[in-house]
Parts: sequence; structure tokens; C-alpha cells
Amino acid sequence: MTRIFNDPADFADEALAGFCDAHSDLVRQVEGGAVRRGRPSTPKVAVVTGGGSGHYPAFAGIIGPGFADGAVVGNIFTSPSTQQAYSVAKAANSGAGVVFTYGNYAGDVMNFGMASERLNAEGIATENVLVTDDIASASPAEIEKRRGIAGDFVVFKVMGAAAEAGLDLASVVRVGRKANDATRTIGTAFSGCTFPGAEQPLFRLPKGKMGLGLGIHGEPGLFDTELPTAVELGQELVRRVLAETPASGATRLAVILNGLGSTKHEELFVLWRTVAPLLREAGYTLVMPEVGELVTSLDMAGASLTLTWLDDELEQYWTAPALTPAYRRGAVGFEASSAVYTEADPDHVAEADYSSTAESRAYAAHCLQALDTTAALLRDSESMLGDMDAIAGDGDHGRGMVRGSAAALDAAREAFELGAGAGSLLAAAGDAWADKAGGTSGVLWGAGLRALGERLGDAETPTPAALAESVRAFAERLSSLGKAEIGDKTMMDALLPFAASLEDRVGSGTAVEEAWSAAAADATAAAGATAELRPLKGRARPLAEKSIGTPDPGATSLAMVFTAVGPHFTAVPVPAAANN
Ligand code: ADP
Ligand code: MG
Repeated sequence: MTRIFNDPADFADEALAGFCDAHSDLVRQVEGGAVRRGRPSTPKVAVVTGGGSGHYPAFAGIIGPGFADGAVVGNIFTSPSTQQAYSVAKAANSGAGVVFTYGNYAGDVMNFGMASERLNAEGIATENVLVTDDIASASPAEIEKRRGIAGDFVVFKVMGAAAEAGLDLASVVRVGRKANDATRTIGTAFSGCTFPGAEQPLFRLPKGKMGLGLGIHGEPGLFDTELPTAVELGQELVRRVLAETPASGATRLAVILNGLGSTKHEELFVLWRTVAPLLREAGYTLVMPEVGELVTSLDMAGASLTLTWLDDELEQYWTAPALTPAYRRGAVGFEASSAVYTEADPDHVAEADYSSTAESRAYAAHCLQALDTTAALLRDSESMLGDMDAIAGDGDHGRGMVRGSAAALDAAREAFELGAGAGSLLAAAGDAWADKAGGTSGVLWGAGLRALGERLGDAETPTPAALAESVRAFAERLSSLGKAEIGDKTMMDALLPFAASLEDRVGSGTAVEEAWSAAAADATAAAGATAELRPLKGRARPLAEKSIGTPDPGATSLAMVFTAVGPHFTAVPVPAAANN
């Protein structure tokens, strides 16, 4: 249970502000997250970690000399937006490039990836290192699909130390990838975690049971077993991780026995009494092991065991000193913050300057209504969509869609008042959606709306054919970003049938209102049919079996929204002459 909060929607923002105040000697808050208080006097590679909130001390708690230069802080369990990642990277950059490092989740990959494109285009060399340590989340054959959990800590630590030692960008990336390749984690959960303000935990385990293979976003374990004794649990964790020993032949191990949020340190030490001797008996030397809370999942009860097989280089960086709010090791000399503190370049946002035709302004009014309808519909559906996402995902889909659509509506209203045509209005709405929603669906909806707007433009009222093409542009943007195909159990399963059906019907001369509502009916049917599918993309993939029988939340919300907005997008009577 999370008991201390004001408005639950502000929880992550308030926690970040409090953290930055309490640790103002080491960190300072910037748009999108936090960076080190002191900037290096000579350029060094900036290691920027990130992800959702709810994992403290990951990720902001490990900012400081010897560790991270900045952390991008999303909403609870939700990927930060592209804009947030961009903004923190700009503030953390000291002239030697940026490396984003984070756990492998679709929303993070897309948002950090898009921020990297933007930074590289501006001449700030930016690379990405993904963490894929969770052995329960995919088989060794699909190792690159694994998600990142407590192994994040080792990979970030090693990269932070390498950057502090003055390695260049390519070398920090190389060391980071090597650390990831040498790291394996297995986790277990005893109880689910509860969002601030939520009545129920994201999942429950039957009394006396334990879930093996948990995620760190309240994803339940992959399967439930009887609650073992501490000795049996330790044996099970060690056996499973050692079964995946990499081929390097390394005999020295970094070890993390991690508590997930409400498992006591004393319990972890009891578990350590089994884990450590077993590892030593297997011939390993344990190098500066950590027993404690390093990557958590709100108030979840549970533990995970992470092993990193060290070579000399990894060991040097694993054992190097660090000084951060949540983690200290050895003695670090660091420059007093105020002496070297310089404000990062402020990121000026130019006031938008719109030019549009009267015709497009009239259509923009309809687009604004479509966004109004969308925001209201999603507000009403928040808990339904959240519950659907909690079955095999992380339960945030409802909240993300509400935040995104509300921000989109605000931005669209402002654009409308400033004279935007339909295209610019939708593009501005898309940018705001992506920035405020977070999560996989947020970045996709945001980018899709922008593509829709760019195709519609600010000049003409769209003909039915142009409207269908604009929807196609929305779909293509999502395909190219998310790379999901029909049958992967994502929102594409509703969107692609919608786009195809609208094109077909409009192409064969059906009136546009009728074509849209028939396409929406097809999308709704297709969304319902995803219940039978196994998810192949996104957070739900590792829990594929649990997802069967429940439709995909993203496909469900997409079909609902497209159904509701039809009357607005098709509201303008189109002269017959323009109808092809
Ligand atoms: P997150 O998965 O980051 O928690 P949400 O819960 O808001 O984000 O959205 C989940 C939805 O995102 C899924 O139900 C699915 O429809 C959609 N999704 C996930 N991955 C992809 C992808 N690669 N392409 C398209 N849609 C995706
Ligand atoms: Mg989700």
C-alpha cells in the first residue's frame, strides 16, 4: 500500500521534487528529470539512465561522481517521453557525447531512440545501451528480447565508472554492452505493488504462494509455486542463474541480492546465507556484493538475484568509487558543486507561428471536437483500460491514455486560438500527447497524430480519399516506430484493419461517414479478436499465457477512440467533384 500522497496523479513529480531538494548537494532538477549538481571541468561522456518512477534508488538515486550524470524520470512505471530524454541529455552533456542506458522496454526504446536521433542531428553524439538481464523474460535463443531488471544497476555502475575514468563514447558503450552480456537476473515476488491512490495491488498471489520470474513493473511472476523456505529459495535462485552461465569462464562475480520494495534487509541477509556459500562452492569469488534495495517496484515484496561474470576491466569499474544520494562506495574526490556549476543552455521554445486557410480553420474546429470527445471517452474508460493492461502488462494504459489525450486537447485548444489549421493543430496535439502520456502507447499515439496532421496540412478540407490517406500515414508511422505486425497483439491489430477498410470503402464510393463507421466496426471486431492472440510485442510478451482470453488494451482503446471521433473527422460535407 502506498499511503503518503496528495493527488495520486502528481505522485511521481512530487517525489522527484522532494528527492532533488533533499539531495541538492549532489543533484539538481531539470525539465524531465535530474542531473549532477556539478558539471565536470573537462568534458566527459554523460551517462544518462532512465525509465519510469517507482524503482528508487533507480534511477535518480544513483546520480553522482562515479555513477550516472543524469536520470530521465517518467511517471510511475511509465517510459519518459522523447522530450524529457532530450532535455535531460542536453543538461547532462558536457561536450563528450551522451549514452542513454535503460532496461529493454518498448516505450523506453522508442523514446530514448527518438531523443537520440534529435541529439545526433544537433551534433551531440548519442548512443544507447539496453539492459536485458532478466532470464525469465525470454529464452536464451531470444536473449535480445529480455527485459532489464536489477541488472540495470551493475551495467549503469560500470558505465558510470568508465565514463568517470575518461573513456570516450565508443568505449563506454563497449564496456556497457560487455557488462550487460555478462549479467543475468532471476526474480521472485511474494505480493504485488499498489499504485498511489489505487485500492488494489496490480496482482495478488494466493496465500502461501510465490511468483517466480517477476518483472519490476508489478508484472506478476511467470508461474506460481509453493512458498519455499529461505534455503530452498536461495537454492532455486542460484540454480536458475547458474544454469545460464556465460561461456567466458570468468570466476569472479559481482552479486546483487535485491529487495523489491517491502522485503526487509534482514530477510535478504537470511537468504544471502544460502546464496553466498552456494556461489563459493561453485568456485566463484564474490566481488563487493550488494545486499539491499537497488532496483525496486514500489511496495512489492520480493527479491532478485543478479550475477555479473567479471573480467579485469569490468571488475575495475564495478569496484571503482562512487558518491550518489543512494549509493556510496570508497572515497571519491569531487569538485565542490557551486564552484563548477554552470546552468545548462536553456532550451528556447519558439512561439508557434501558424498560417492556414479559412477552410482548414473550419476543419480544425472539428478536429478539436474530436480531441475533446477522445479525452472525455478515455477519462470514462481509465479504470477499464488499466485493469485490462494489468492482466499481462503493467496497468498503466488507462492513466497514460488519459494524460496523453488531456494534454493533446490542451495543446490543440492553444493552437486553435493561435490560428492553427487542422494539420498543425493535430501535430501540436500529437507532440503534447507523446510528451505527457509516456509509455509505449503514448509515443505511438503522439507520433501518429503528428503524421496524420502533416498529411492533412493546413490548406484544404480533406476529400474522403485524402482523409483515408491521412489515416494511412498515422498507421505507417506507428508501423515504422513500433515494428509490430498484424497478429502481434498490439494496437496495430485494430489500426491496420481500420485503415484498410476505410481506404477500400472510400475507394469504392461509399459515403465517407458510412465508410468511417463501417471501418470502425471492423476495428472493434478486430480488437475483440485479439483476445485469442499471444502478445509478441511490448510489456505483455513475457506473460503471453496470462494474456490469452483478454483483448489487447491498446487495440481496445484505439477502436473505441476511432469509433467515437468518426462524426467529427467526417463532418465536413465534401463536394462531389472533390470526391476522388
Ligand atoms: P506500456 O506497454 O509502455 O506500459 P501502455 O500500457 O500505455 O504502454 O500501452 C500498451 C499497449 O501498447 C499495448 O496494449 C499495445 O497495444 C501497444 N504496443 C506495445 N508495443 C507496441 C508496438 N511495438 N507497436 C504497436 N503497439 C504496441
Ligand atoms: Mg502498460
